[in-house]
Amino acid sequence: MKKPIKICENIECGAEINSYKSAKRKYCCDQCRQRSNFLKSKILNQDHNEWLKSYKEQLNLIRLIKKRGKNKIRLTTLEDLNFDFGILQANRNMFSPEYKIGEYIIARDKVNKEYCTIKRFVKK
Ligand SMILES: [Zn+2]
Repeated sequence: MKKPIKICENIECGAEINSYKSAKRKYCCDQCRQRSNFLKSKILNQDHNEWLKSYKEQLNLIRLIKKRGKNKIRLTTLEDLNFDFGILQANRNMFSPEYKIGEYIIARDKVNKEYCTIKRFVKK
């Protein structure tokens, strides 16, 4: 009998897990497991549903921006749109902070620091 298809529980991923040995498997890869645990610990003290709602809104905004063919956005614009950079933090490098949302990485532009570049995150 075919096993039911599972969906990766990392809210940023949602990939199908086609092959798994244990029914307990929740994530498609270690990266997703770590990322999901990180996000969970971050939102522990907040209303989960509220957070998820604003997270999805923000992700949709980024998708919209990319759809318009824009790869750069002013940092203050993202702040005006209520982006929660604390939660989106992708690494601990203080000098070139990167933020991850959905399939995108938002990084401070190296030339013009008022801007952020948005690029697609490629899983290794
Ligand atoms: Zn995943």
